Amino acid sequence: MMLNNDSTELAKFITGTVQHEVAEASNITDYREPLVAFVEADDPRFADLRRVAQPTHMMPDDLLPGAHSVISFFLPFDYWVVEANAQDREEVAREWAEAYVETNHLIERITKHLIESLADQGIRAAAEPPTHNFDPISLVSHWSHKSIAVIAGLGSFGLHHMIITDSGCAGRFGSVVIDADLPISAAKPKERCLYFHDGSCLECILRCPVDALDENDPIDRQRCYRRLRSVAKRYEHLDLVEVCGKCAIGPCSFESAVQ
Ligand code: SF4
Ligand code: SF4
Repeated sequence: MMLNNDSTELAKFITGTVQHEVAEASNITDYREPLVAFVEADDPRFADLRRVAQPTHMMPDDLLPGAHSVISFFLPFDYWVVEANAQDREEVAREWAEAYVETNHLIERITKHLIESLADQGIRAAAEPPTHNFDPISLVSHWSHKSIAVIAGLGSFGLHHMIITDSGCAGRFGSVVIDADLPISAAKPKERCLYFHDGSCLECILRCPVDALDENDPIDRQRCYRRLRSVAKRYEHLDLVEVCGKCAIGPCSFESAVQ
């Protein structure tokens, strides 16, 4: 498909590519409808992110000099994937572990396809891997797909430090930086976590098997990561599967918890 300079056509092409790759994936995992959003590369919230929360976080221009826009997308798992992981309080379901591995590969395919097909149209694009792009000591990411999703208006942080979209938090995020303009629809900030809305939910805290979450403190990243590492040992035959997701089982799994 040849693209012209119309940013609306380009947006349609990008969204269509993500949807097509998900529909064609021959994964065990099933997905609900992907979400795609765009944000300007010079949005001041990128600088705020580095200044306030993650001083080592890259700017879009660090990833792609001359960046104009950032694409953020979310691939929400189908209901049965989450339901499988809800069966046991501690044991991580094989379905959830497989979903993590398969979806990371799917995100890599989507990203590669976007970069190559946009290059055919003279548009440069760049991306970071879907996972393990964090500092091994601090466990803080230098390109957080989750934070990008918030800036792009796809979702908002929940008490569990995951991102809740309008299709919930159970799924995975990817992002791509490009040097072309895209139509930006400034999404209004929206609360999707019941705890932050009216204090009426603590489900994720109660479900965390290692007490890594607390109402009054930031997530205990080291404690959470030890748990992920221990799960990875159990599923090492699948790949590097540092997963848990017990905090993603609750009223915000499949939709915003605030209606
Ligand atoms: S489980 Fe409840 S408190 Fe935790 S993030 Fe979801 S809505 Fe918020
Ligand atoms: S991923 Fe698991 S260990 Fe980490 S905060 Fe969530 S429930 Fe706790």
